[in-house]
Amino acid sequence: MHDDEKFLFHSRLSFAMNSKILSPKEVIQAVLDHFYDKTTNINISQVEGFIRQIVGWREYMRGIYWKEMPEYKQLNSLKNTNKLPDFFWSGKTKMNCLKKAIGQSLDVAYAHHIQRLMVIGNFSLLTQIDPDEVDKWYLGVYIDAIEWVEITNTRGMSQFADGGIVATKPYVSSANYINKMSTYCGNCHYSHAQKIGEKACPFNSLYWNFLAEKKEHFKDNQRMNMMMALLDKMDGNKLAEIQERAALIIKIPDDF
Ligand SMILES: Cc1cc2nc3c(=O)[nH]c(=O)nc-3n(C[C@H](O)[C@H](O)[C@H](O)COP(=O)(O)OP(=O)(O)OC[C@H]3O[C@@H](n4cnc5c(N)ncnc54)[C@H](O)[C@@H]3O)c2cc1C
Ligand code: SF4
Repeated sequence: MHDDEKFLFHSRLSFAMNSKILSPKEVIQAVLDHFYDKTTNINISQVEGFIRQIVGWREYMRGIYWKEMPEYKQLNSLKNTNKLPDFFWSGKTKMNCLKKAIGQSLDVAYAHHIQRLMVIGNFSLLTQIDPDEVDKWYLGVYIDAIEWVEITNTRGMSQFADGGIVATKPYVSSANYINKMSTYCGNCHYSHAQKIGEKACPFNSLYWNFLAEKKEHFKDNQRMNMMMALLDKMDGNKLAEIQERAALIIKIPDDF
């Protein structure tokens, strides 16, 4: 994720495929033809990754939709009920990653996968927003949003509202990971390295608060063991301070 790049290495073909202007088979064939053309110089990992998104993830989501709907639309396994912050409709926030990802989504109706998942979806889940609200926002904002491929990604992959049908663990992260994967943190009001204090990145308080609040819910999920073990090691007073700040962010996200 890059402050100055909206599309970077992404194809922007989802709208054309979802609206049936292009068939996925046609797209894959074109990529394979290019790969096998001896005059080009593309390596197999580039081709494999791209094709896997289409024959893998896209078809998997389609299968889940037709298998699980209409019940899927009602699922809210974590019982999240908070409202969407106002800044989702303006991009006006001091959190640079959200400002950039939401701002460009509103401007050009596009954000690439990691912006949708690691920034906007992550924040929505950590602030425990009602998945109905999250769904409506994604469905309303993105050019490629058609229910079968939107709801499975939003409610399933990103919000874990389906209790693990699509993914095996919730996709949550602190600022550390966003910093590794982007240029956003270097240009932010907040410090990605701080967990407490006025300048501490809200994602840090929210992340540890989420783990603490959902500890019981995820006690049998093996994939959460490592995260929970780190939580257990945290000093009680520090965790209390983190949770106090997280409660404030959840209550008035637009102030952050
Ligand atoms: C919360 C959330 C909501 C999403 N909502 C939608 C949506 O409404 N419509 C939509 O088409 N995709 C959605 N996606 C999946 C993915 O983000 C988009 O397909 C991708 O960003 C489209 O941009 P692109 O064509 O440049 O993709 P590229 O990065 O170039 O990828 C190539 C193609 O792979 C396919 N693909 C990759 N990942 C997925 C996936 N998880 N599910 C389905 N197809 C995938 C797409 O058809 C895409 O065009 C969502 C992902 C998340 C995390
Ligand atoms: S410091 Fe936190 S809020 Fe700022 S860009 Fe990084 S992750 Fe986002």
